[in-house]
Amino acid sequence: MRSYTQFYIDGQWVDPVTPKTAEVINPATEEVSGEISLGSPADVDKAVAAARRAFATYGETSVKERLDLLEAIQAEYLKREAELGEAIMVEMGAPTALANGFHTLLGKGHLGTAIEVLREFKFEEQRGPTLIRKEPIGVCGLITPWNWPMNQTCVKIFPALAAGCTMILKPPQLAPYSAQILTEILHEAGVPAGVFNMIQGQGSVIGAALSKHEDVDMISFTGSEPVGVQIQKDAAETVKRVGLELGGKSAWIVLDDEGLAANVAGATAGMMGNSGQTCSAGSRLLVPSARLEEAKKAAAEAANGVTVGDPTGNFAMGPVVSKAQYNDIQRYIELGISEGAELIAGGPGRPEGLDKGWYVKPTVFVGTNDMTISREEIFGPVLVIIGYDDIDDAIAIANDSQFGLGGYVSGSDVEQARNVARKLRTGAIWINGGFDFHAPFGGYKRSGNGREAGVYGLRDFLEVKSIVGC
Ligand code: NAD
Repeated sequence: MRSYTQFYIDGQWVDPVTPKTAEVINPATEEVSGEISLGSPADVDKAVAAARRAFATYGETSVKERLDLLEAIQAEYLKREAELGEAIMVEMGAPTALANGFHTLLGKGHLGTAIEVLREFKFEEQRGPTLIRKEPIGVCGLITPWNWPMNQTCVKIFPALAAGCTMILKPPQLAPYSAQILTEILHEAGVPAGVFNMIQGQGSVIGAALSKHEDVDMISFTGSEPVGVQIQKDAAETVKRVGLELGGKSAWIVLDDEGLAANVAGATAGMMGNSGQTCSAGSRLLVPSARLEEAKKAAAEAANGVTVGDPTGNFAMGPVVSKAQYNDIQRYIELGISEGAELIAGGPGRPEGLDKGWYVKPTVFVGTNDMTISREEIFGPVLVIIGYDDIDDAIAIANDSQFGLGGYVSGSDVEQARNVARKLRTGAIWINGGFDFHAPFGGYKRSGNGREAGVYGLRDFLEVKSIVGC
């Protein structure tokens, strides 16, 4: 049993102002894995005051000082990587290979990238008579989701530290352990008191208190669209900057070429990764209508080949994060069936032999883009295949969404794939499985605003000042 009942404020582990705890459930067993404290607005006030005090000095540090700090954190992170992986497995059910292989790697990657960006970044630039300075925005509230806990947290903390900001992290209540360990890492690395603070608790309490707080300059939020809307409303009174990374319903376009079956199989298995709980998951698979039968066969085989089981074992997919998430996904599967989508793999209920734990069958439908399962973010291992007539039709279907987060194009003609990508109204498109830590990440339309990762991730934490006159 893990017990994390203290918060990290002003460089120290402290008790909550008002003691209140909540159980954390392991989604693989449905059993209690530990407890955390739930904070109150009084804890937020303490943390914001500490961050404000620290900003007076940390905001003035040199690039060299911040690089030294980030490198010290990097060394500590490497020492505790396996512990982070273990925590992620227990808190949100990622299979051990994924938790240790990819989840922790993403955090490490964002840290290394922040260092690379900071080494190169020009904080001052002379344009004619004007000196343009980039300065840290100030005290930041960082609010993160449970689905890729290290990825979402590290892509905020490290650019914010690189910029010279101070911060208060509010980790997800469902997956709070890895953030505790990360906080220990930051403490061990010597982050100055007040620069980084961490309070666990309910979003509607801690997140809202941060969003409304008069002395917080920026909120960086990753999570669902409705909460993003609420945060913007809460932050409006104090006119603070709000960075939003929200949901998606991304299209994966498979081009009409000899690699179609393999590309469909790869897209299907890829979408099921992390139990489909990825904001940029390619949850609409667009294939040429003329080759729908070939695509159906490849997708069904791939989905049926995704092994599901206990995260401690050698399985491709673990459970989804919670009972509520499980029930929501089941509702969507039933909805797909009742709306007339053709079920070709998976379906309602748990996979055979798994009676306990929030396990979902890797599920594939063939449907149309107007069905609810094609329009709403399901956030589970549920894929919808949609046929397209020609490439313009594929682009039109892909863009016919309220979201605009990710996109994928698979095919042998990379130039054609790039031309398709140019026409997609989304923040990032991956061609044939490309990946880059420096690629800016963020959404068009209702998928959010602002950009994280790489140099754009640093810029989001900076103000721009003009000093005019020689
Ligand atoms: P969520 O919106 O329920 O919660 C996210 C965070 O916000 C949590 O820490 C939560 O406690 C907090 N929160 C809840 N209510 C709040 C409020 N009123 N004020 C301030 N904070 C509040 O999302 P989730 O269920 O944790 O994560 C899943 C969602 O996140 C999905 O919609 C997914 O697409 C999205 N997501 C987006 C990205 C991206 O980069 N675009 C990445 C990962 C997840």
